[in-house]
Amino acid sequence: MIPAPAREALRQALGGAIRFDAETRRLTSLGVGGPADALATPGDRQALARLLALCADHGVPCRPIGRGFNLLVHDAGVDGVLLLLSLFKVLEEREGHVFAEAGVSHTRLTRFCRERGLAGLEFGAGIPGNLGGWVAMNAGIGDREVKDVVREIEIVSSDGKGPRSVGRADLEFVYRSLRSLAPGDVVVSALLAVEPSTPQKVAARIDELLERRRATQPLDVPSCGSVFKNPPGGYAGQLIEEAGLKGAREGGVMISPQHANFMVNTGGATTGDVLALIERAQDEVRRQTGIELETEVRIIGRPS
Ligand SMILES: Cc1cc2nc3c(=O)[nH]c(=O)nc-3n(C[C@H](O)[C@H](O)[C@H](O)COP(=O)(O)OP(=O)(O)OC[C@H]3O[C@@H](n4cnc5c(N)ncnc54)[C@H](O)[C@@H]3O)c2cc1C
Repeated sequence: MIPAPAREALRQALGGAIRFDAETRRLTSLGVGGPADALATPGDRQALARLLALCADHGVPCRPIGRGFNLLVHDAGVDGVLLLLSLFKVLEEREGHVFAEAGVSHTRLTRFCRERGLAGLEFGAGIPGNLGGWVAMNAGIGDREVKDVVREIEIVSSDGKGPRSVGRADLEFVYRSLRSLAPGDVVVSALLAVEPSTPQKVAARIDELLERRRATQPLDVPSCGSVFKNPPGGYAGQLIEEAGLKGAREGGVMISPQHANFMVNTGGATTGDVLALIERAQDEVRRQTGIELETEVRIIGRPS
């Protein structure tokens, strides 16, 4: 709940760029989750900084989200402001690199590189989300991750200070996370390394990776990608499959019969269903193997 004075200050500062008591269901790929106190879509760096500073002054939590492809919001909703960077859409070549703002989608980035014959980012072709989410999650597949292509990122701090540029050497990426981000810090843009190639070669690599995904992942039903991180030396999906949980259900959520690290919404699912199935998978894998599965999907909001 945002106190009335903070609500008024936010309304005055952001005008139409903030909405209160907003649904979040459509903001997550699984299509589950309760409401957010507010949803803000600042149009530029100045408005973003003003929003963050105001939230910090009033003690209102403010959290950036991308396209919600690896995100769950508790059914009881989320306190404070959810911040969308969908208006940060600049995408261009800069001196042999690709500069992309946080709201650039993976589809657009992939198409951009394919059309210009720029190699290096093909691995991201099937990793849905926005550039900001990619960087914050250190998204990747196989032995290729965002950390391998980032040269610099631009951050606005959770208190509204910045933007500041941080070079690759000062960024601590780990498996599916960027440790250098403090809670509430916002990735505004990134400079990505690419190499000159040809549109045909880039397209061929992308098509090959997408084909592999189509064969192994349930892409025609709502999911949030991998629910669990792979434990050292193993695969979460394999452990869940070996625990006999493919096809297991809780309410409207099911462990995909195609890929056991994916949970899919079969209709009418709630976040509570997903959390119950997460707990069941963790319990069963722990009981059978002693391995502790850690969630990759980010969970925010008020636990019910
Ligand atoms: C079918 C499918 C396949 C997938 N395959 C893969 C895969 O192969 N590899 C992989 O790594 N992931 C995969 N994912 C997961 C997902 O695509 C990635 O995690 C992606 O990076 C999420 O981006 P997003 O914009 O949707 O971020 P969100 O899910 O909206 O957010 C994820 C996290 O990033 C933070 N965040 C978002 N934007 C910003 C920002 N601007 N500044 C700071 N923090 C921010 C959020 O606070 C949250 O903690 C898959 C998902 C699906 C549905």
